[in-house]
Amino acid sequence: MGLKDLTQAAVTAALDEFDALGRDAFLKRYGFGPARSYFVVRDGVRYDSKAIAGAAHGRLEGRDSLKSADFTGGEKTVSAALTALGFDVVKLTEDAPRNPSWTRDELILALDFYMRHREHMPSQTSKPIAELSATLNDLAKRTGGGDAETFRNPNGVYMKMMNFRRLDPEVAASGGVGLVRGNKDEQVVWDLFADDPERLTAVAKAIRQQVTLPVEIEDLQIAFDEDLVEAPEGKILTRLHRYKERNRKLVENRKAKALKEIGKLECEVCGFDFEKTYGARGKGFIEAHHTKPVHTLPEEGKTKLEDLALVCPNCHRMIHSSRPWLGVEELRQLIEDADAP
Ligand SMILES: [Zn+2]
Ligand SMILES: [Zn+2]
Repeated sequence: MGLKDLTQAAVTAALDEFDALGRDAFLKRYGFGPARSYFVVRDGVRYDSKAIAGAAHGRLEGRDSLKSADFTGGEKTVSAALTALGFDVVKLTEDAPRNPSWTRDELILALDFYMRHREHMPSQTSKPIAELSATLNDLAKRTGGGDAETFRNPNGVYMKMMNFRRLDPEVAASGGVGLVRGNKDEQVVWDLFADDPERLTAVAKAIRQQVTLPVEIEDLQIAFDEDLVEAPEGKILTRLHRYKERNRKLVENRKAKALKEIGKLECEVCGFDFEKTYGARGKGFIEAHHTKPVHTLPEEGKTKLEDLALVCPNCHRMIHSSRPWLGVEELRQLIEDADAP
């Protein structure tokens, strides 16, 4: 026997059989357990590499398929033989524990990538995967993280694609397999965006823009509150929202506009007027909330006065207290509903 004798045709035939039978039946037929590390990848679907090699051996003239105990798997044997034939072999390892779990922003970028390459997933060593890996690293630097050498490396990025594949009903229907483990926010992001490709594209674009725009990182850091519940669209756009509504000059202009038009500063949600309640101490006090959807913020560029709503801190907190954030009108309605006997 010899893995060196394997041919491309024999391996392809084994992969096809794997597709036809499904993973469990294929492994059972050839007497292999599920692989833990090495997988052949074809069109984004992963195949247990040792089992494929064993089955392919039986396709050679006058040879039998090999059982698991007949040979050792791994990098120097199976992986080397299959790679030599032009197949893509990946070593899957779980993210090193020192790498933090994926943030909402990252998952959105990853899902956007997945959806764009759903039919033909680029290989782990491909340029598109490397580019996504680079973008995620840049993003992490923007939000103050990503120092580890293995942070969102192509291997980890590729695995995330496999995690999404597991959630993909279209793939599940065709019998493909993805990794079994994943973090639960993957499902949340999938549910939020998978059926809304336009929004997904827009949000991902807005996030990428924040990664490449020369925004002062320090300013964004200041704009981030620990107690602010992140928008469904992720952290970096949440910061941008905060940054915009804390633009001192804009807020002052917005207040001046209200004073000119209605002669007082009152919360647009609940009507609270600081000066009326606190006297001179409350004069001029109110917060501003930016009303545009966060993923449209980079596109809009400069904030317009009419995009800012004047709100009291209570109402502002309620707007941002959970996902999704509420609109001014929605919160007003909520107060009305709660008031109703
Ligand atoms: Zn209020
Ligand atoms: Zn706000």
